[in-house]
Amino acid sequence: MNIIEKIERAGLVGRGGAEYPTAKKWQDVRLAPGDQKYVICNASEGEIGLFKDIFILENYTEQVVRGMILALEYLETKDAFFNINEKYYHQIESKILKIIDKYNQQGYNIQFFIEEPSYIGGEETALLNAIEGKRTEPRLKPPYPSIEGLYGKPTLINNVETFYNVACVDDNTFSATRFFSISGKIKNPGVYQLPDDITIEKLLKETNNLPDFDFFVQIGGSASGLVLNKEQIKEQKMIGAGGLEVYDKTTPPKDVVLRWLKFYQKESCGKCTPCRVGTYQLYNLVKNNSEIPWSEVFEILETLKETSFCALGKSVEVPITSYYKNVL
Ligand code: SF4
Repeated sequence: MNIIEKIERAGLVGRGGAEYPTAKKWQDVRLAPGDQKYVICNASEGEIGLFKDIFILENYTEQVVRGMILALEYLETKDAFFNINEKYYHQIESKILKIIDKYNQQGYNIQFFIEEPSYIGGEETALLNAIEGKRTEPRLKPPYPSIEGLYGKPTLINNVETFYNVACVDDNTFSATRFFSISGKIKNPGVYQLPDDITIEKLLKETNNLPDFDFFVQIGGSASGLVLNKEQIKEQKMIGAGGLEVYDKTTPPKDVVLRWLKFYQKESCGKCTPCRVGTYQLYNLVKNNSEIPWSEVFEILETLKETSFCALGKSVEVPITSYYKNVL
């Protein structure tokens, strides 16, 4: 069985957040016309509450790089970039350099692209711009990177965990698990590898993190993630990039919402007006009122959702609206 059949059979989906079928993504790049193709490993992980990629890189460096090599072989190319945020790079530098040097001596051309930690820097098309030396801001899609990616050539971009999974599939050691970054007001924060269909409540129980106080959670990531109450987590499974943050329900709503808005205001790349101005307005509106003026907040959130250029601006409403509906 070849690698693509193995990936298909394992049912791998991307672990960067979008959950796109891995085999389909690889095939799209393979079938795209062009002599030059690229592979990119995305270790940007710029959202608060996410830290599973660095855990995987520290513990399974060889497998991640081997996943990239399998992709290069499948696409019959030698050229790849390892996009990694600066902080992570310094944490794993000596280990990863040794492994990548080994493969480069065999004829591969894997280069590092080291960037400052940022949310938008992990967005696929913004990352392509950054590697090309342009402003780190998203491109209009389509065309998708699989057809017109780095320097206009077909490009496969996968997350660290996805490449790790590919190596496990190749070794026949893959099991239907995923890595969860668990943080917030809990006893045992950390990264846990557990079945990918586990419910959120069970995830908290099995990691000895189920709070004995009134709480709510955010899943996916601690900025763009969905907020759920403690009843909803009995059935809900993980989504997005695998982050789980626990909040004390007595935390003042203004503090909760301001944390998200501060993140969005800082991370907005400024390319489009609704997000650039909207995130600034929202932050100041909440900061300068003793109580959150909800109707004004929802009005701006709706505009952001409808008119923002990329997923960052569109996603601001997700945590705030779900927090309001499910917790308050
Ligand atoms: S929505 Fe925000 S992050 Fe996305 S392009 Fe517009 S300004 Fe940049």
